[in-house]
Amino acid sequence: MNPADQFTPIEDLTFTQAQAEIRDLSDELTKWGREYYEEDNPSVEDYVYDAHYARLVALEKAYPSLAMPDSPTQHVAAGNQTKNDSRGLQKVVHPVPMLSLGDVFSIQELLDWDLVTTKNAGSQQKYNLELKIDGLAISLRYENGRLIQASTRGDGSIGENVTDNVKTITEIPKVLNEPLTIEVRGEIYMRKEAFADLNRQRDEEGKTIFANPRNAAAGSLRQLDPKITAKRHLSSFIYYTAQNDVLGVNTQSDVLERFRQLGFPVNSSNKVIDRMTEVKDYIDEYTIKRDNLPYGIDGVVVKVNDLDVENELGNTVKIPRWSIAYKFPPEEALTVVRDITWTVGRTGVVTPTAIMDPVFLAGTKVKRASLHNPDYLQEKDVRIGDTVTLHKAGDIIPEVGQVILKKRPADAQAYPIPVYCPSCKSKLVHVQGEVALRCINPECPAQIKEGLIHFASRNAMNIDGLGPRVVEQLLSKNLIRKISDLYALTESQLTTLDKFADLSSKNLIQAIDRSRQNSVERLITALGIRGVGAKAAKVLAAHFKNLRNLQNAGAEEIAEIDGVGQVMADAIRQYFNSESVASLINELENFQVNFDYLTTSTVDEKNYFFNKRIVLTGKLIHWTRPQMQAWLEEHGANVSSSVSSKTDLLIAGSDVGSKLERANKLGIKVINEQDFINLSNAKK
Ligand code: NAD
Repeated sequence: MNPADQFTPIEDLTFTQAQAEIRDLSDELTKWGREYYEEDNPSVEDYVYDAHYARLVALEKAYPSLAMPDSPTQHVAAGNQTKNDSRGLQKVVHPVPMLSLGDVFSIQELLDWDLVTTKNAGSQQKYNLELKIDGLAISLRYENGRLIQASTRGDGSIGENVTDNVKTITEIPKVLNEPLTIEVRGEIYMRKEAFADLNRQRDEEGKTIFANPRNAAAGSLRQLDPKITAKRHLSSFIYYTAQNDVLGVNTQSDVLERFRQLGFPVNSSNKVIDRMTEVKDYIDEYTIKRDNLPYGIDGVVVKVNDLDVENELGNTVKIPRWSIAYKFPPEEALTVVRDITWTVGRTGVVTPTAIMDPVFLAGTKVKRASLHNPDYLQEKDVRIGDTVTLHKAGDIIPEVGQVILKKRPADAQAYPIPVYCPSCKSKLVHVQGEVALRCINPECPAQIKEGLIHFASRNAMNIDGLGPRVVEQLLSKNLIRKISDLYALTESQLTTLDKFADLSSKNLIQAIDRSRQNSVERLITALGIRGVGAKAAKVLAAHFKNLRNLQNAGAEEIAEIDGVGQVMADAIRQYFNSESVASLINELENFQVNFDYLTTSTVDEKNYFFNKRIVLTGKLIHWTRPQMQAWLEEHGANVSSSVSSKTDLLIAGSDVGSKLERANKLGIKVINEQDFINLSNAKK
């Protein structure tokens, strides 16, 4: 459904109707702006906002006397960011205003904009095309090459001081490669992977999830405590300065190149075109590629490439005249909800999921979408039989947009929120301060099952062959009832499982046996303490050296460890205070599961990969990428997902794409799988 379809044609409106609609639209857009900019929690999709905004622009054009000076079309929107100080961040005045961008939704509108621009410039222009990164604008001030201030856009004139937070973003240089005094601007964004991890964790902890990576980035940057920002893994691309004279260049494409030399993160997808008709190929290319980019984009930004012309064209109070954004249409599908199921996670959180008629959406077939928690379900009021719009939040997670009420079956009932656990039937609780509904019965079979699956998973005890299906069978055949029972399993017991020949039984028993020798960080991850993932487990293991030391440590000591913090420390203390956990630890010890931290002692610091920042890309033949990553990490390398100027090495298989291109551009060493095998002497 196109949100614009709901509007009455402007020519059919009376003056009074137009007046009322302008007032309503202004109020509505102001409210949505507040939710989006101030609360980082929008209640409508961007394309809904855009359609209402376009309607207001059209009405104000048709009725100029009704256009109000404080209309949302007349200023850079900022919610209340600059008016009240809800977050306590200091205000920063922008000497050169930070503007928004005019936007269009079709190639035809771009061609029309080109006509006006050509006329105003007096000649045909070359354009620099850039991806429109879905994040929030940032201003960075450098004095003699040192980062001295970072601020958000705010209302364009006054933003918020987020210097300490920005300093936690590793990609942003604290010192430039040249001692320039300059203010630059760009985008802070959250990678899709970091966004999915953050939302998964928040969902598990019963916190509200972010609607999309843009809101997650904004919410993470606008924090009073930089430690929180640091944990959110934000990224950045820089693309603009109002002080081109400092750079000594003449075109926007050269601005980007100079930024790269100075050490800024710069998106490498820009392209200069000779005339606007060439824009279509670029838009088509990124319409296809956008799903596979590691960050979200919501369009393409077209900029006059000649900086003298940029200067001559200038800006309106809200937008530049030398640049325009083409916005991608929303990728949306309609489908029918057939069921709503409730599943119990490892930590007892009970989550509703909509089961729908399968539809294709942004390249994948989708038939399930999380409805997150009871509040969310009630707010959306999704009912069985409802036709709903489906989109992908941040291009990754399928999400129900809205219910098409016109298509609702007459007998559809509001979906009841369960009172009892769908697995163990004990009464569910709403823990204070959480939106999640939880089953708090430690004996709940669903939690035990999820806990076992997690225990055996690759990042945890890494027990090959012990996946969800085997765990399910072991539980249903009563061969195990809790984690420690795994270590008492015998080969002959396993042969009773479906499709389990002698060999698989032997392999699984050996894999379980091998897991006893794991360094303790794997066991700490495997225990599934709330908020403690593989990274934190490693920090804890390195500090405490033995599980018993961690078990006996006070919350204060734990909280003081760099990278841990009070919330995690409290969760750890609470976990070890439980009697059932105490007996689990004793049982594991009796089964001779290793409690010691072994990792550092096994790393040979002379190995080629030690301490290198490495990125893997392409298809491998002898290894899988996760296996290679695990090997590298065990041998002291730091593996990350994207190539930056800080990357030391790219290991490239076949069918490689932009990462290789970027590594070559940055002069980063590239080796192939065979080189890796030779250098590592590693056997899988
Ligand atoms: P915008 O986000 O549409 O475009 C301007 C911004 O684009 C710039 O400030 C800059 O931060 C960014 N940008 C990204 N890549 C860029 C590049 N390569 N070059 C230049 N700029 C680049 O405009 P806006 O004024 O920030 O926000 C308005 C938009 O925000 C609306 O169109 C709507 O999509 C969204 N919004 C949504 C809601 C909601 O409730 N869902 C509410 C308010 C606004």
